Amino acid sequence: MSKKNPSCPFCGAPCREVVFGFPTPETFKRAERGEVVLGGCLIGDDEPEWLCTGPEEHAVYADNLKSPDTLIVP
Ligand SMILES: [Zn+2]
Repeated sequence: MSKKNPSCPFCGAPCREVVFGFPTPETFKRAERGEVVLGGCLIGDDEPEWLCTGPEEHAVYADNLKSPDTLIVP
């Protein structure tokens, strides 16, 4: 399970994957290293798949990457 982390379509900063559900010890380690963001146990219909590491921490959805012409502005 290694999704390639995209660049933020809004500002170009690298994105970190958001991991939902109860994190495993390995996930905690990855979060400590800044590789992933813990999204918590709440899972909704509109959770972003990535958060960018830029100062505005844009929420990035798969749709944002698929259709860059119709970006969902946070
Ligand atoms: Zn961004």
